[in-house]
Amino acid sequence: MKRFLKAILPIVLSVSASSVAITVHADEIVVYSARNEQLIKPLFDAYTAETGVKIQFITDKEGPLMARLKAEGKNTPADILLTVDAGNLWQAVNEKLLQPIRSPSLSENVPENLRDPDYNWYGLSVRARTMVYNTAKVKPSDLSSYEALAEPQWKNRLCLRTSKKVYNQSLVAMMIAEHGEAKTEKIVKGWVANLATDPLADDTKAIEAVANGICDVTIVNTYYFGRVMKKDPQLPVAIFWPNQNIANQEAGVHVNVSGAGVTRYAKNPEAAKKFIIWLSSEKAQNLYADENMEFPVNPKVKPVAAVAAWGSFKPNLINVATAGELQAKAVMLMDRVGYK
Ligand code: FE
Repeated sequence: MKRFLKAILPIVLSVSASSVAITVHADEIVVYSARNEQLIKPLFDAYTAETGVKIQFITDKEGPLMARLKAEGKNTPADILLTVDAGNLWQAVNEKLLQPIRSPSLSENVPENLRDPDYNWYGLSVRARTMVYNTAKVKPSDLSSYEALAEPQWKNRLCLRTSKKVYNQSLVAMMIAEHGEAKTEKIVKGWVANLATDPLADDTKAIEAVANGICDVTIVNTYYFGRVMKKDPQLPVAIFWPNQNIANQEAGVHVNVSGAGVTRYAKNPEAAKKFIIWLSSEKAQNLYADENMEFPVNPKVKPVAAVAAWGSFKPNLINVATAGELQAKAVMLMDRVGYK
């Protein structure tokens, strides 16, 4: 027996190392997750403890995960795709990687603007893409809207994350939905003219640049602000909620989601659907949003105290799926105005 095991072991190892082979059992759910293990594992464990349903998962960036789903086709072991940004979830639908699921609980737990109108995916946490400014150099009264950051008064004072990341592609896509292409192009061109430095690699670097005085204001997701402040609460930076002037027809803070959908060729679609419903429930929402300092998607659940301390705001209510629909236009627009 021992000799036999020795003989097959190297083969098994080489298979799992090259393709992370997954053996699926009938009562298990398999999740492909673009969110990291530290964030999702506590949720999966809580669900298994409550229901006995085991969850297997792999984590990777959304691009490779979607490519893998596509390549595996009908043979995929994955039941659920979990990822950030409505732009990515929309892409997954566009590539025919998901299937619609409907349930009264999901319709109740997830507001209409934060889920796919065709039911292929549901937002599970909300992130606000807002402004962070240097408190020594900017008064909140100097700030008003995303659009106003294109004005000459912000020349050499603005920092932006690179346009290569889906977050700003989605932001610009939502602006196209609101203003049309011509007006959005003018605004983004104005941003580029006001940049104090080349676009930065990520939101954390953008906040640090504001804190270090390289620029005065930037546009980032709130949970990065939460992380930076947790490390160094003394930094001279603060959050500003833009586009709150309803009289001025400003439509609110841009929000986006992390979310999930059942894969097109799921082996356990019913179990997968039940798990997504559970993720939207009050109990799971607390766990999920709090860990990453995001906002719960379920309106019945309050954000964790550190997040609530940032104050309330009026969100833009355009359906986040629009971020996907207009993503290609947004990318081309940013390219045209030289936003790198
Ligand atoms: Fe992020």
